[in-house]
Amino acid sequence: MTAETVMEKLGITAAERTGGRLRVTSPIDGSLLGEVHEMPVSGMDAVLYRAKSAFKVWRSVPAPRRGELIRLLGEELRAAKADLGALVSWEAGKITSEGLGEVQEMIDICDFAVGLSRQLYGLTIASERPGHRMMETWHPAGPVGVISAFNFPVAVWSWNAALAIVCGDPVIWKPSEKTPLTALACQKIFDRAAARFGDAPEGLLQTLIGGAELGRALVASEDVPIISATGSTRMGRAVAPIVAARLGKCILELGGNNAMIVGPSADLEMAVRAIVFSAVGTAGQRCTSLRRLIVHNSIREDLVARLKKAYAGLPIGNPLEEGTLVGPLVDEAAGAAMTAALEAARAEGGTIFGGARVRDGVPEDGVYMTPAIVEMPEQSAVVKTETFAPILYVLGYDDFDEAVEIHNDVPQGLSSCVFTLNMREAEQFLSAAGSDCGIANVNIGPSGAEIGGAFGGEKETGGGRESGSDAWKAYMRRQTNTVNYSAQLPLAQGVKFDI
Ligand code: NAD
Repeated sequence: MTAETVMEKLGITAAERTGGRLRVTSPIDGSLLGEVHEMPVSGMDAVLYRAKSAFKVWRSVPAPRRGELIRLLGEELRAAKADLGALVSWEAGKITSEGLGEVQEMIDICDFAVGLSRQLYGLTIASERPGHRMMETWHPAGPVGVISAFNFPVAVWSWNAALAIVCGDPVIWKPSEKTPLTALACQKIFDRAAARFGDAPEGLLQTLIGGAELGRALVASEDVPIISATGSTRMGRAVAPIVAARLGKCILELGGNNAMIVGPSADLEMAVRAIVFSAVGTAGQRCTSLRRLIVHNSIREDLVARLKKAYAGLPIGNPLEEGTLVGPLVDEAAGAAMTAALEAARAEGGTIFGGARVRDGVPEDGVYMTPAIVEMPEQSAVVKTETFAPILYVLGYDDFDEAVEIHNDVPQGLSSCVFTLNMREAEQFLSAAGSDCGIANVNIGPSGAEIGGAFGGEKETGGGRESGSDAWKAYMRRQTNTVNYSAQLPLAQGVKFDI
């Protein structure tokens, strides 16, 4: 099936994907997928007006009824899974099973949010005053601005939108300018769910096609109390002060530099599988991709030899072809960034395996690279920097405390893991003196999180949490209520104020 047929099936009209100024090309082969119309920044006032009007209606719809809309969205996503997954592959360059996996994640978060719509609980709190009751109520907060990155072009939107909408908030989505077509497809899928729902207010979801300028306008708006922004740390540094200056709230999901510690007792066969999937899957373009391997010196040589063997046999090529495990990088700039990082690593004393441009047996005009393994003498500057490409830096250690220290000595703090059969090492890694990341795993790689847990990271990763657990609280405002059912008016803290 061609990309055009897939887009037609998803409901994107020819008028929507032709004649615009934003050219969308496929990372697979550089082919033109569409010329999409960008929204001018001058259109923002109308967007905000629609979102505010939608909020006035939606906030009073009972939460379980709001959940019904997300249940229908889940149904529509199930029906569209094959087509949307294929479009993710065309537009972001993911292998087929990862494109489909991304849509499955959207379905999973919808299921989660439907259940959540009946569980937006507050606490009841013992009052110090007789005849009084205290409680917490969670109310909808207002329009949520969602800014998303190219590498999870649809799942990140759904993590935010499914929760925000059951929480009673309209969503204004500014997707990556590299992936506007999958965003248009999501808006269509949502519109179909909303039509079946019947009385969802107009403007509950609005998708704004355009670049950083449009994102900046969204971020600056006082009418958007919550900004959930996913992308590079550079973007987060630009967004956070603007939202802070107007005292808005931010959920930031930024860059990672994820590591695995491999102890001497580790099951190396399992470790090799986990390393290869998390370091080369999605061609190293996941925020949770494995970038640093911190391995005990007694097993270092053996592990690196096994990895090189596995890397040498990796099927690299067209991600739509069955059997391919490593697809293209998103664009030429990403390829150049990988090459530059490898040059820097060499200058900092690294020994490089792989990392070359592949020209044979791959589609022309796609940026295909062999994943690289780089043995480093120490954790130098390049290792501490996130390069969004399949580069795995290898560092040795002798003592577990030293491994944890190396592990935490980077500015980012998203995902982490340890491979060990030693209970003391595993528990130390998960303890307060262990990994400083938002996600820490034992005998599982750092990527491929389940939606049930809260997702996000510390330090330069931004501190936000999305998806499962109680991440929903970030999309609501908390109200403390005290009800006096007595005939007296006692004051708190025993204060006397008789008039
Ligand atoms: P990017 O920062 O270039 O762009 C992300 C989004 O931000 C785009 O929609 C872009 O238009 C917008 N944007 C850029 N500057 C902006 C500004 N000043 N104001 C408002 N919006 C602005 O990131 P990318 O290259 O698309 O994605 C890769 C990066 O995203 C990596 O660093 C990766 O680690 C990170 N990422 C993080 C997570 C996470 O959950 N932590 C998930 C996916 C990707």
